[in-house]
Amino acid sequence: MAETIKTTCPYCGVGCGVIAAVDDKGQVSVTGDSDHPANFGRLCSKGAALADTLDIEGRLLKPEVYGEMQDWDSALDTVAMRLQNVIDEHGRDSVAFYVSGQLLTEDYYVANKLMKGFIGSANIDTNSRLCMSSAVAGQKRAFGSDTVPGCYEDLERAKLIVLTGSNLAWCHPVLYQRIVTAKRDNPDLVVVVIDPRKTASCDIADLHLAIEPGTDHALFNGLLVYLHEHDEINERFVSQCTEGSEAAIAAARQVAPSIDSVAGSCKLDESDIENFYRLFARTERVVSVYSQGINQWSNGTDRVNAIINCHLFSGRIGRPGMGPFSITGQPNAMGGREVGGLANQLAAHMDIENAGHRQLVQSFWQSPHIADSAGLKAVELFNAIDTGRIKAVWIMATNPAVSLPQSTKIQRALEKCEFVVVSDCVRHTDTTRYADVLLPAQTWGERDGTVTNSERCISRQRAFLKAPDDARPDWWIISQVAKRMGHGQQFSYNLSVDIFNEHAALSAYKNSDSLNDPCRRDFNLCALSGLSLHEYSQLQPVQWPVTGNSSATSDYQGTRRMFADGRFFTDSGKAQFIAVNNPCSVNVLSQQYPLRLNSGRIRDQWHTMTRTGQVPRLTCHIYEPFVEINPQDALQASLQQNELVQVSNQQADVICRAVITDSQKRGNLFMPIHWSEQFSGRALVDSLVNSVVDPVSGQPEFKSTAVTIQPYPVQWYGFIISRHKLADLDTDYWSCSRGEGVWRYELAAQQLPENWSDYARGLLCQAATKPEWSEYHDVAMHRYRAARFDNGQLQSCMFVDSEQVLPERGWLQGLFAQPQLDSVERASILAGKPTGLQKDAGRIVCSCFNVGVNTLLEAIRTNRLVSTDQVGKLLRAGTNCGSCLPEISSLLQSSKH
Ligand code: SF4
Repeated sequence: MAETIKTTCPYCGVGCGVIAAVDDKGQVSVTGDSDHPANFGRLCSKGAALADTLDIEGRLLKPEVYGEMQDWDSALDTVAMRLQNVIDEHGRDSVAFYVSGQLLTEDYYVANKLMKGFIGSANIDTNSRLCMSSAVAGQKRAFGSDTVPGCYEDLERAKLIVLTGSNLAWCHPVLYQRIVTAKRDNPDLVVVVIDPRKTASCDIADLHLAIEPGTDHALFNGLLVYLHEHDEINERFVSQCTEGSEAAIAAARQVAPSIDSVAGSCKLDESDIENFYRLFARTERVVSVYSQGINQWSNGTDRVNAIINCHLFSGRIGRPGMGPFSITGQPNAMGGREVGGLANQLAAHMDIENAGHRQLVQSFWQSPHIADSAGLKAVELFNAIDTGRIKAVWIMATNPAVSLPQSTKIQRALEKCEFVVVSDCVRHTDTTRYADVLLPAQTWGERDGTVTNSERCISRQRAFLKAPDDARPDWWIISQVAKRMGHGQQFSYNLSVDIFNEHAALSAYKNSDSLNDPCRRDFNLCALSGLSLHEYSQLQPVQWPVTGNSSATSDYQGTRRMFADGRFFTDSGKAQFIAVNNPCSVNVLSQQYPLRLNSGRIRDQWHTMTRTGQVPRLTCHIYEPFVEINPQDALQASLQQNELVQVSNQQADVICRAVITDSQKRGNLFMPIHWSEQFSGRALVDSLVNSVVDPVSGQPEFKSTAVTIQPYPVQWYGFIISRHKLADLDTDYWSCSRGEGVWRYELAAQQLPENWSDYARGLLCQAATKPEWSEYHDVAMHRYRAARFDNGQLQSCMFVDSEQVLPERGWLQGLFAQPQLDSVERASILAGKPTGLQKDAGRIVCSCFNVGVNTLLEAIRTNRLVSTDQVGKLLRAGTNCGSCLPEISSLLQSSKH
């Protein structure tokens, strides 16, 4: 009988509830939690594959100090001593923590407490700075607090959903599925997608505004002007509950005086703009969902406020089915904000610049120091490491060597830094290679605490596996260092519940509901501040603020929507319109670098692939780094589909596969963020991104990097499939991915090896003494194939050609599943063609049921299928998580022609 534990998905900010079942043999299976209010049982492809990520291969299991394994005491002593030495010699601002939205709230709380209250510096920042700090800054300017007003249910109660700067279908798939279902149940629900790209989210768009990148603020300023001119104002709300509308309208008028001018700026048809404006003006229940496409610009905060302004003007906030809605990228970005994980925040939504708040936090913590000014934000922090101002950094649960702008400079800074500590669950990342001390942290399934999703819902992440070897909770590691730095009394936590209770108590400390109280805060967990271990372990998802419980039954009453009473957390209690007329991106294009590179996520991968990159079914949808290019730009650069392309600017160049598609606007490119140097030789997109940030939020401009493209000419293309991971490859281009029981490598180079046989044996026979070896070489055609066997079982194979006419990988991969190959099958390898019986499913579209594009197209053609429902009935594709439905729709569309 399997034991079941309810927990929360560790990936995106939707925060889906998950049920993990562990059977007698320790096998884990994962399903969606039908009781969880975020997903009601749904999971996307990443969540559905969570059980496949629990292998301890590649884990960091022991502390390491300068490359030597050590016990915990020695490693912790070293960290505490070195940090203290640096502080004593150079001052408290010479050390920094760089933390992560992957941490649990309890971990985050302890890290922030140590840095801001005991070391006495605010030099702690988080990778959440990279994804949603502009949303935080915009909300604080408008509401006086970092408050998301609504909840996911509003998506189902809305009549108009505006998706802007958000490819929800791939980046927050369960929310997308909720909208799909809502639209099916309510055909009157209108969806407008505002995105320069034609993404999978456009599958449900009634109107797609393929806006010129960087012009959202013009579009929303134009909307504000339109609402004003058409008298679509909620006068009572604006006059009683807001301030600053006139200045905001005047500023909007400068940017967007007319629909005609907006059409010019945004490069859209006037009629489409008018249609959108009319829909917004006439629909009472409007939710505007926004994400990185709004936040990751050098004027991201202004863009956020341009959206909020329209909701304030129409009074569409605080009621069911309406409101501006920032969707966070990470699982606990919001939990990090609650505890002050950003360098410019204090704990519990208090302000570092506010003396009353500082005094309150210091007296609550009984701390010797309290940081009295904002610390360095992520980009500044790594600049300070590079210049030597920061001499010691502790990086927790994140991979800045890949994910920060100017990643090459970040790597150089870490290389130079006097003392680098990295706590992680993974041994080899692009960042761990710079660590002086490595500390093994627990990971999903082992750790225990809470996370908060995009709708302010606090959920438990519960442990259901024993942590392997020396892996420890992050909060334990930080507390142990704090004790060794002399703060044992204030960090004497035994369990995560102790920390949660302290965090909840601080949120309630001197937090009255009186408008006149300068310490009045939105974030308040007073009803959760004295939980017993049992109550904590039973805690159900609940949306903050949580200020009461219904009875003694521990049925805590959360808050679905904020601002229903029209009161905000500003000094006046009124929401603030913000006049926004900043120009767009500061990263301007030039003759030399005429193309605008946008970066973002793909459907089945998460961040730098340390977890999802290990799961075969998540790597078969897209297994190589790529850049999407408009056909006209490709033609101009003489690029062919699937060729290798070099994307460059003055900072760096990367090499990846060209995907030529008219879903990209001319002049624009898109590259995924996921490929690190663990998975590809030269595909670090952030090495191209420069470190321009929004001046208010400090969020980097990931959405607009000036680059140029050119073909990357090679003399040969090839691939390897191998049962074992290969040692270092030194080809000009390589990328690797995990298949079922195998590793796949795509290769290319500008030089031919002197001898193909020697070259192939060097790669494929690394540990084999007497390999069974077959090969074929057509010198005239520059074609080479080789296969290595062990007792008749295929171990590895390599295919090379001067052109991109390499065999399909699918059927070859299938041969690895067989214990022995017969002579026909062995011959088929060297022939590069499947035998009559073997079929190639093609690139996998539905990763839940392993259905490839060839299978789908054949089924659509032979059975004359016209709907995703019919495809689902026949092949099951799209019937589990639904993440692939937009792609199946597109195959159905293309098959019509
Ligand atoms: Fe996890 Fe997917 Fe839900 Fe995001 S949408 S929390 S990745 S299951």
